[in-house]
Amino acid sequence: MKILFASAEAYPLAKVGGLGDVGGSLPKALRALGHDVRIVLPKYGMVRDVKEDLGPFDVTIGGGPQPAALRTSSIDGVPVYLIDKPDLYDRPKVYEYEDDGERFGFFCKAILDLLPAAGFWPDVIHSNDWHSALAPAFLKTLYAGDPRYRRIKTVLTIHNLQHQGLFGPGLFDWTGLPSDAWSPEGVEFYGQLNFMKAGIVYADLVSTVSPTYAREIQTEEYGGKLDGLLRSRATKLSGILNGIDYDVWNPGKDKYIAQKYTKTTVERKAKNKAALQAEAGLPRDSKAPLLGMVSRITEQKGLDILISALPKMLERGAHVVVLGAGEAKYEAPLAELTKRGKNFMAYLKYDEALAHRIYAGSDFFLMPSRFEPCGLGQMISLRYGTVPIVRATGGLSDTVLDVNEDPKRGNGFVFRDYSPESLLDATRRAMEFLRGKRGWKGLQQKAMAADYSWRASAEQYVRWYKRALNS
Ligand code: ADP
Repeated sequence: MKILFASAEAYPLAKVGGLGDVGGSLPKALRALGHDVRIVLPKYGMVRDVKEDLGPFDVTIGGGPQPAALRTSSIDGVPVYLIDKPDLYDRPKVYEYEDDGERFGFFCKAILDLLPAAGFWPDVIHSNDWHSALAPAFLKTLYAGDPRYRRIKTVLTIHNLQHQGLFGPGLFDWTGLPSDAWSPEGVEFYGQLNFMKAGIVYADLVSTVSPTYAREIQTEEYGGKLDGLLRSRATKLSGILNGIDYDVWNPGKDKYIAQKYTKTTVERKAKNKAALQAEAGLPRDSKAPLLGMVSRITEQKGLDILISALPKMLERGAHVVVLGAGEAKYEAPLAELTKRGKNFMAYLKYDEALAHRIYAGSDFFLMPSRFEPCGLGQMISLRYGTVPIVRATGGLSDTVLDVNEDPKRGNGFVFRDYSPESLLDATRRAMEFLRGKRGWKGLQQKAMAADYSWRASAEQYVRWYKRALNS
């Protein structure tokens, strides 16, 4: 099959969070299964690795053709098409600009307009999150009369329903979508243009990144006002769990960490703990439970309950390292605690290498998320024998089982209520388990034995594409 994988992020060219991991690694896994997968990505300022220049092409949007250039790059053998449009993309960040509506509206149209220039006619266009979700709407309306386009199927994957891409009606006019698309059955959403909704309505199939999240988004609590629409599309909605890139995340080969180790040499992990303690200025105490966290610092990630729980957690003997960047209202108390607490360190930045050292050096990994479509942090930490402490939500429910509840299969510590008390209770149980020593090494090894590589999930995507082709 020929697949065009459209994403706003693809590691290592551009990554903000989990979408970047998936955008870099799923196409690779699909290619390993023998499919011709190519990625399309805007050429942001940080994308430096440009290989070929395929020349100029026009993107028809905003009332007429607009010039852009098509360039190429690659990620581990996967070809990447780069949309070069400097006035929109040649900036330091991926998102959070006032004109993100135009930036990603343009991207969605470019995904289709680049095909003749690239000479690549995919069987399936795979959109990911709102940034590429308008492409199926363009395809089904503006290109319906063109036989080259008519046979292309589209799938949308929802990585996070919290971000839907909402913009005023002026942007709808600018896109050039036909006026009848402006209705509650189309792309209109309470008077605004909703990119994600457009994808859900127009794509042949919709998936999300874990079976539990696929159920959750059909409820009012998690559905972001699209739950009714998602329920009505339930037969074309599925949850396919993300994998992680086992080449990037591999404690046996990780070049960023002090000491490499495998499941059979897990005791060597202690060296990484000592190195992390030294680096973070924490007491060099091999017995102290070290809890790590690598996360965007946002409400979604449970920062409010974490911040409320931290003083008690530290009082009870936890040592904690946090790496993350995000909202000031959470960063400020973390910075304050770093100044005061000798057993606490927060790095408020994005740092790929340090993330590896935290995954490798911690005993436990914290993920107290309010909601979590899939979550990669817990899978990465399992791979590093770092036992996850998570809230039971979304993909966390599908990947982490509580050791106390299920001693045989349990691979972490799980709490249910979204409250500081529940989080504290889970960390207490976790620290008791570590201090008790019995079974600790076995638990680390059980964590490392789980297989969250992409293979099985990539096969599920292939089946999903085939279903789209037969639809
Ligand atoms: P989300 O996509 O919601 O941010 P995930 O758990 O799915 O959450 O993926 C987060 C990814 O981003 C992981 O690979 C994690 O290691 C990485 N990450 C998050 N924050 C940072 C940071 N400050 N520095 C380095 N890596 C980070």
